[in-house]
Amino acid sequence: MAKNDSPLDRYAVIGHPIDHSRSPLIHTLFARQTRQKLTYELIDAEPKDFETAVRGFAAAGGKGVNVTVPHKEAAFALVHERSEAASAAGAVNTISFAAGRLRGDNTDGVGLIRDLTTNQHVTLTGRRMLVLGAGGAARGIVGPLLASRPAELVIANRTKARADALVAQLKTPAGVSTVAFEDLAKLAPFDLLLNATSAGLKGEPPPFPGSIVGPDSIAYDLVYSMHDTPFVAWARANGAARALQGWGMLVEQAAESFFIWRGVRPDTRPILQQLAH
Ligand code: NAP
Repeated sequence: MAKNDSPLDRYAVIGHPIDHSRSPLIHTLFARQTRQKLTYELIDAEPKDFETAVRGFAAAGGKGVNVTVPHKEAAFALVHERSEAASAAGAVNTISFAAGRLRGDNTDGVGLIRDLTTNQHVTLTGRRMLVLGAGGAARGIVGPLLASRPAELVIANRTKARADALVAQLKTPAGVSTVAFEDLAKLAPFDLLLNATSAGLKGEPPPFPGSIVGPDSIAYDLVYSMHDTPFVAWARANGAARALQGWGMLVEQAAESFFIWRGVRPDTRPILQQLAH
C-alpha cells in the first residue's frame, strides 16, 4: 500500500464481503457536513488476511478503520487497548491508530440504543426482550440493552453454546437466559425482538416460530435493505405492532465512530433521510 502523501486523513472499513457497504457514503456525508478533511475506503479482506490488512493500512498512514462481518472478534484480539464497551462486548468495530498502537472500540450498542430510543421513541425499561443471534453484532448490543433495565432478556442462537458463551462473559447476567431455536415456541410473545443473525439473507424465511410475536411486539432487524428484509416481512406477517430495520443503527454507530476519530458529532437526521429513502 502506498505511503499517504494526501492532506486528507484516511479511514476505511474492513470486511468480507464488503462491496455493498454504505459506510464510505455515510462517512463522506458526515465529513462534508462537519467540514472534516478525510477519505474513507473499502477494504475486502478474508479472515486469513485481516491482520495484514489492518497493519498495512496503518503503516500506509491510515488513521483508523471500521471492522465488520466477520472480523469483529478477530479485531478484539488484535488491538492493544480496548474501551469499556469493547471489553464488555468481546468484539471491536472501530479501531483508532495512534503512535503505533491500535485502540479498539465498539459502537454497535450505542448505535442501536440511540436509534431505538431517540429516533424510534421505543421504551426499553421493563420490556421483555429477545435477541436472536450470538455473533459479533449480538455481543455489541446485549450489554447496552441490559443497561436499559429490561424485565427479562433472552438470547437465542442456532448454536446455543455460542449464546451461553456470550452470557458467561457478561458482568451482570441477572435476568438473562439462553434458549435453542427449537424451544422458542414454548415462550410467550416478546415486547421487543431483535434480529442479530444473518439468517434469511439468502431469501429463505427466518427459522423462528411466529408465536414469539404478539400484537404489541416491536421487531427490529439489525439487517437493512431498500426493501423489507425477510425478518421484517416475517414479523409483519405474524402481526407485530412495528417492524423496523437497522438503517438508523447503521448511521448512529457510524456517527459514534466518527466522534471517536474526529471529536466532532455529526447530525445523523439528514444522513438517515438521504440513505433510507
Ligand atoms: P457474525 O458474527 O458472523 O454472526 C452471525 C450470526 O447469525 C450468528 O449468531 C449465527 O449463528 C447466525 N446465523 C447465520 N446464519 C444463520 C442461519 N442460516 N440460521 C440461523 N442463524 C444464522 O455476524 P454479525 O457481525 O453478528 O452480524 C449479524 C448481522 O447483523 C449481519 O447481517 C450484519 O450486517 C448485521 N449488523 C448490522 C448492523 C447495523 O448497524 N445495522 C451492525 C452490526 C451488524 P451461529 O452462531 O449458529 O453460526
